[in-house]
Amino acid sequence: MSIHKVQGVVLKTCNYSEYDKIITIFSDKYGKIDILCNGARRTKSKQLHLTQQFCFGEYVLSKSKDMYVLNSGSLNNSFQSLLNDYKKLMLGSYFLEFIDKSIENENKNVYVLALLLKTLYLLEDGTIDNYLLKVTFDFKLVSLLGYTPQVLKCIKCGKKTLDEAFFSIIEGGLICKSCNNNVSYIRINNKELEILTKIRNIKLEDLGKIYYDKTNLKFIDELLQQYTNYYLSLKLNTIDFIKNIF
Ligand SMILES: [Zn+2]
Repeated sequence: MSIHKVQGVVLKTCNYSEYDKIITIFSDKYGKIDILCNGARRTKSKQLHLTQQFCFGEYVLSKSKDMYVLNSGSLNNSFQSLLNDYKKLMLGSYFLEFIDKSIENENKNVYVLALLLKTLYLLEDGTIDNYLLKVTFDFKLVSLLGYTPQVLKCIKCGKKTLDEAFFSIIEGGLICKSCNNNVSYIRINNKELEILTKIRNIKLEDLGKIYYDKTNLKFIDELLQQYTNYYLSLKLNTIDFIKNIF
């Protein structure tokens, strides 16, 4: 039996036998792992507050055979205030499900963990527009997973200043007017392009500096959803819940 200390966020929980549960956390050292929490559903359990969805903490685990078991832990932030606000709860659940379904078990990525944590803190804080936070999260996560869309220049000829721009999902980025020779390319206007280039480089905490028109942001949201579906083909249950909250 070996002992492991990790930091992580609880992505989901699942009841197991009468008083136990299995939690899935996204951790700094081992990526996504399942942890058996013995007795965690007993009302007096010390593990109760550590093992709820959204919790971010330090977890001390033992591993025997292939299973991690929770020994003890300490909480950094429970994020349970999200549960008091339906929109924040739905959006937070979407962030967790997106990561859960796009990353295989034990696939470590500390940048994704940092993105998730920063996003959850901003969501809880409430100072950043939720829709902008969601679209930026999508862009940054898909990029961290290795599918960064090219939004700074034409992917065919490299031209940087585009008077008229198009986007190719399959080819992975912008197409200029002279390279536009395919009917499947999506026309993208200057304001939409501006949103794409801004969210590409911006730090999440600076999102408040971006002013946008909702129609343009919705267009980018739908474009990124098509893009994500093409490269990751995920079926997210929370998508239907967040459709109508913005
Ligand atoms: Zn071109």
